[in-house]
Amino acid sequence: MLKHPFLFALVLFFSASQAQNDDSLVIRKIYNESLRSHVAYSNLEHLCIKIGSRLSGSQQLTDAIQYTKQLMTDMKLDTVYLQEVKIPHWIRGDKEICRVTSTDISMNLDNCALGGSVGTGVKGITANVIEVSSFDQLKALGKTVINGKIVFFNQVADPTHINTFEAYGEVAYQRVHGASEASKYGAVAVLVRSLNPGHDDYPHTGIMAYDKSVAMIPAFALSTNSADKLSKLLKTAKDISVYIRNTSEWRTDTTGFNVIGELKGSKFPDEIITVGGHLDSWDEGQAAHDDGAGCMEAIEVLRIFKTTGIRPQRTIRAVMFMDEEIHQSGGRKYAEMAGKNNEKHYFAVESDEGVAIPVGFSVQGSDLHVAAIKKFLPYLRPYGIYFIEKGYGGVDLQELSAFKIPLISIVPDNSRYFDYHHSPNDTFDKVNEREMQFASAAIASLIYILDKSGY
Ligand SMILES: [Zn+2]
Repeated sequence: MLKHPFLFALVLFFSASQAQNDDSLVIRKIYNESLRSHVAYSNLEHLCIKIGSRLSGSQQLTDAIQYTKQLMTDMKLDTVYLQEVKIPHWIRGDKEICRVTSTDISMNLDNCALGGSVGTGVKGITANVIEVSSFDQLKALGKTVINGKIVFFNQVADPTHINTFEAYGEVAYQRVHGASEASKYGAVAVLVRSLNPGHDDYPHTGIMAYDKSVAMIPAFALSTNSADKLSKLLKTAKDISVYIRNTSEWRTDTTGFNVIGELKGSKFPDEIITVGGHLDSWDEGQAAHDDGAGCMEAIEVLRIFKTTGIRPQRTIRAVMFMDEEIHQSGGRKYAEMAGKNNEKHYFAVESDEGVAIPVGFSVQGSDLHVAAIKKFLPYLRPYGIYFIEKGYGGVDLQELSAFKIPLISIVPDNSRYFDYHHSPNDTFDKVNEREMQFASAAIASLIYILDKSGY
């Protein structure tokens, strides 16, 4: 019996630092397991090479649902199941054409239809082009200038942003709303400079949305190099016109499934920790970074816990979400079912910013949540994680905010992410195995420490 308060405090101090020490050793064990394992990377290789990109409504997405379900079944998790979701179905159609012509020029531009675009009709559209770099400029030109033309949105993603997501965020309006905005002034189609800050020959697709009160016109992405070429031509050559053709179309909604695997908690099995990525993707490339890797990391987290014998107190649930890219119906369905089933959710984490060395976690939640989670940063600092800050918690997790829980995103260094994002360049060979191992380990470690110590 310790009666002396000083001795009692000393014992408490040493037992607290012993616990810290033990937790650090467990985290080291998690990293060791992840850094030695080739499982997640080889799963990603199968997903990218054998199955390929996974557009909502495509056969490849169905194959990927079966594949990831089988992966988790073979791991002998406690529960593996599918959650039915109604998902959109848009098809790209024939390889698109975008050709500049004038009396003495004929040049093809690197292009693709934006996700959700209507088609030009099989004959295509030929029209003069007018370049703008803002909606204000479009408005100033007005109907007299725009009517009957193809509008070319060419605002450059600002390369001076340190965080490339900020550069992307500033110009995304061109891609998302450009078509309807131009249509108000009588434009017949739009060409949109790809949203990547770099210079390359890849057109980067992505969702665009129509305002149903104006005519729906076709929308194309141009690679940044092609956008520069077109801009230069418009300044120098006379009588420039552009021919475009695409046969994209919307079909009726179809059925998809969120793929879910669980490792039951030892102490609080009813409390759920979600770790996710989205299984759907755009159809260009192999969707390795966006977001095949995020899905394989989520499964890898469960494998690490299982293999190392680290029993979580709460249930860890890996979720491959459907339809992040178009309508986010998978994320919505997941939260809706969680509500209907009266589930208790503890926190959720997603990996959907590509694969590069992880540098931090962004936490969407109350200031108290952020401060409480930030306390665990010293455990992760030795592995290169240098921040845990208030921020965005991931697209698929947004509807879980109804549970008032922290929504967390792993943040890799994003300097190169937009070299791949939504483009034919997003292929398996662009993913570095070690960086992916670090990501899986960082997520597993954060889950371990938050589950063990609470927040
Ligand atoms: Zn994504």
